[in-house]
Amino acid sequence: MHRLRSWLRGWALWRTPRPSQILIMAVNALAVAVAAVTVVLVPVSIGQNDLVRFGVLAGCAWAATELTRHVEQRRAVAHSPAVAHIDSAAVWVMATTIVLPPSLALGMVVLTNVLLWDRVKRRRTPPYRAVYTTSTILLGTSLAVLILATGLNGYPGLPATAVEFGVIALAAAVAWAVNFGLIVAAIASHNPTTSARELFSDLSGQILEAGAAALGVLVAITIVTTPVALPAVLVVIVALHRGSLVTGLEKAASIDAKTGLATSARWHHHAEQLLVRAQDAGTGLGLLMIDLDHFKKINDTYGHLFGDRVLRAVADELRGEVRELDACGRWGGEEFAIVVADIDSDQSLRRIAERVRLRIQGIVLEAPAGEDVETVTITASVGGVHHVPDASTTVDDLVAAADSALYEAKRDRNTIRVYLTAPPLPTALAPERTEAPPPS
Ligand code: GH3
Ligand code: MG
Ligand code: MG
Repeated sequence: MHRLRSWLRGWALWRTPRPSQILIMAVNALAVAVAAVTVVLVPVSIGQNDLVRFGVLAGCAWAATELTRHVEQRRAVAHSPAVAHIDSAAVWVMATTIVLPPSLALGMVVLTNVLLWDRVKRRRTPPYRAVYTTSTILLGTSLAVLILATGLNGYPGLPATAVEFGVIALAAAVAWAVNFGLIVAAIASHNPTTSARELFSDLSGQILEAGAAALGVLVAITIVTTPVALPAVLVVIVALHRGSLVTGLEKAASIDAKTGLATSARWHHHAEQLLVRAQDAGTGLGLLMIDLDHFKKINDTYGHLFGDRVLRAVADELRGEVRELDACGRWGGEEFAIVVADIDSDQSLRRIAERVRLRIQGIVLEAPAGEDVETVTITASVGGVHHVPDASTTVDDLVAAADSALYEAKRDRNTIRVYLTAPPLPTALAPERTEAPPPS
């Protein structure tokens, strides 16, 4: 008894805000009640054929979970809702809801969620959240059952007319809306300061829910007419998951996770494209290298996590100055690179460099608790090169030139050095080129 009580007290649920606890418990209770009422309201006896079909769909759900498990786990770690994927559980639930009795449809909801919890989420998701998700799907599925039972002539069974297909689409839309609405409500109650924009940011990804529902209709048709074709559906689901992983990896390779800027690889690629365009058009290209001053001291004084905050703040300022994502990259560590196309003179580039320097100088961060100072500021040195590229110029030439300008700037720190070069580009810049006066 004592152990039971301390186990109950240890639930992560009690650590969530009060409104969230109330919402979660209310939705859980409502889901059980509505599911029970649905089974009573729509009495369909379970035949032997139904059990066989349920067994086959459950087997598919299990196989799909196993075959996509590694992708799902990686998605959970990457925590990137932007990576679109088809929710395979929704496919089996949809198919079951159309062609099998209500109790089996609701059983499929529980089964797929238990599988997902056991094989994918267990280590990262507290149980109350998995239960809440299951409840929202139970509610949505119950409403879908009620709509199908009212609108389909041969319920449970395949739709025969276009109108009946419409009824299925309506049921799927209602189930989705209930599910999505309740998840958004849970997030909002957990964290009331989340803005509506953040809450609905994943809305475009939700279009794939329509894909899952549609695939569910195809599975319903397949299991009734040609069950041997079901492995084809499994192949589709696994292939779509692999595809989503590729998208995720592409994103990881092109966006620096810490700052949200382009990675150096992506920046380099973009700079090469601009270079080719400038070569063709005979226009000038500007390149800036930015290095934070005494950044090691920031890390040593306030810790690496604070250092990361500084990097993010700098990245935000750079993004504010250069709106095009690809143009601004994290070159490495506390170094950043910017490429600017169609730049007509070194004076223009110098103005941009100076604005970047001032923006970084203007960053004021609240110091971590327990420090002697209240705020922390940072400065950066900027080296740049303006160049009208000829056929033999490479991005690496320009980087090397901007790097030596940066080296010059580092002598004074919190300063810019921007050089105008005409082809051919010198490998190391001679200091007699035009040079910005030290700002202070
Ligand atoms: P200088 O003014 O000469 O540029 O001095 P600095 O201290 O900025 O330069 P240095 O190259 O000596 O140190 C760069 C530091 O940046 C060392 C490294 O620990 C830190 N750093 C590199 N990447 C990261 C990161 O991702 N996060 C944090 N917090 N620190 C980083
Ligand atoms: Mg450095
Ligand atoms: Mg530095």
